[in-house]
Amino acid sequence: MTTKELADLIFPNITKTIEDYEKMYPERDLPEGAKVTRFAPSPTGFMHIGNFMSVTIDYLLARQSKGVFFLRNEDTDSAREIEGAVEAIRHILDQYDYIPDEYEYRDINDEKGIYGPYIQSERKEIYHTFIKHLIIEGKAYPCFLTQEEMDSIREAQTRDKRRIGIYGRYAKYRNLTPDEAAERIKNGEKYTIRLKSSGDFNRKFKFVDLANGEMEFPENDIDIPIMKSSNLLPTYHFAHLVDDHLMRTTHVVRGQEWISSIPVHYELFKTFGFKMPKYVHTPLIIKKDGDKIRKISKRLDPEARMTYYEEKGYPKYALTEAIMTIINSNYEAWREAHPDAPFTEFEFSPKKMSASGALFDLDKLDNISKNYLSRLKATEVFDLLDNWSKIYDKEFNELINKYKEYTTSVLNIEREQKKPRKDYACLSEVKNQIWYMFDELFTDVNYEFAENLTKEEINNVLNTYFNEYYNEADDKDTWFNKMKEMTDKLGYCSNMKEYKENPDKYKGSVADISNIIRVGVTSKSQTPDLYVILNLLGQERIKNRLSKVNK
Ligand code: GLU
Repeated sequence: MTTKELADLIFPNITKTIEDYEKMYPERDLPEGAKVTRFAPSPTGFMHIGNFMSVTIDYLLARQSKGVFFLRNEDTDSAREIEGAVEAIRHILDQYDYIPDEYEYRDINDEKGIYGPYIQSERKEIYHTFIKHLIIEGKAYPCFLTQEEMDSIREAQTRDKRRIGIYGRYAKYRNLTPDEAAERIKNGEKYTIRLKSSGDFNRKFKFVDLANGEMEFPENDIDIPIMKSSNLLPTYHFAHLVDDHLMRTTHVVRGQEWISSIPVHYELFKTFGFKMPKYVHTPLIIKKDGDKIRKISKRLDPEARMTYYEEKGYPKYALTEAIMTIINSNYEAWREAHPDAPFTEFEFSPKKMSASGALFDLDKLDNISKNYLSRLKATEVFDLLDNWSKIYDKEFNELINKYKEYTTSVLNIEREQKKPRKDYACLSEVKNQIWYMFDELFTDVNYEFAENLTKEEINNVLNTYFNEYYNEADDKDTWFNKMKEMTDKLGYCSNMKEYKENPDKYKGSVADISNIIRVGVTSKSQTPDLYVILNLLGQERIKNRLSKVNK
């Protein structure tokens, strides 16, 4: 029996050749320098911040080079697939406007691009064609090692401190004749297909990673499995070879954890004579934990999951910015010089990535986000808040829509000025800043009056002010002058300097007076501009609120 006959026995229905696929998926017709990138998540878990970093780079590289960014669903591990994972990935790409040029969404019957299928489980025939070719060439073989045998090989290798894997004498089936292999197959023995590696572990090769620079690796000599017996789908390594070759990917951006697979990928591309894409292995995302710095963990850190940011209501701009600042250290300086430019105009340099880890800091994200939200118009914040609360706080959503104009005015307090307030980093924090402006939320309140104040004094100040001084129609200067006038009348001091020099002469200062008024109507000892707050609340509501103080 020849290797061709063995290959036909294993893949009787595969009649196409690699050349057929080369013709079907020709080199892309793109301008010089255009990059083809892909985001290739496995639907085995939810998207995490590391994926977000990769996809941000993918998107950036493709957009700024007028290239192509596509999405590939790497669903070869059917046992670990999680329901809803693909939809969740699409949702996040939509949310951040990282819209792929090519994709395939089976659930909504939507597909774009001529290099598909973009779902690996739909590409079986293509992979089998490539595997069949290798078997014919004698470069891959069926391996009949059972799970028990492999476990005991691993045990022995661990015990003897040898490298783990099926290589050298452990590759028991690599030299079976086609007849011997065929006989086992006909007897119904289970098998995987392995690469017949031609590498020599004692030989080294040089490899350039765009982020890490030139690196040296030993050649691969492990007969890695290229097809799984369970579902006849390829392993990651083999699918990477076939897909990134046929989809004409120019730049592979992926997590640091794949760097150790470079010897395998190098050998696979060499075996087929295909040009390797360029690689950007992204750093691990790390965080400060007390005095330690450690890897961000899906299990320990809620901020590792992308859903966290949606639940909290961080604007998409903030997250993209925060991730860009850890991708390239010169990003912040660039942003200062180009405050309004889209991030895709930044010239990303893989060399400027930190190989030792990218430090992600939630405080930094909060800062970026606060700045961003403070620069928006109140109507824009309202729209963001509306969209967020529709899903995450329905009651609040009804309230802000019932009083849409009023809410917008509340959101506008101290906004249209040179230094706007920066009260919230995300939309889930807004309610906590403005709740007291709504009677519906103004129940069971805790008045934050200064502790040394008596009930009588509080009532005295509030009654005097609202009965004798407050007038809705007053402009800000008149309002303030009246406040000072009352301050002096009640034995407080309206001049801060004087008060500080002789505090014992007075009951308190104008600041104490305005504080009593502030707490009286809002319950809070700190709020934005009191004049605007009183105006927005209006006479009716103020009266009503005062009737509740000290009861
Ligand atoms: N499916 C792989 C993963 O999710 C893709 C890695 C790659 O981008 O090549 O880790």
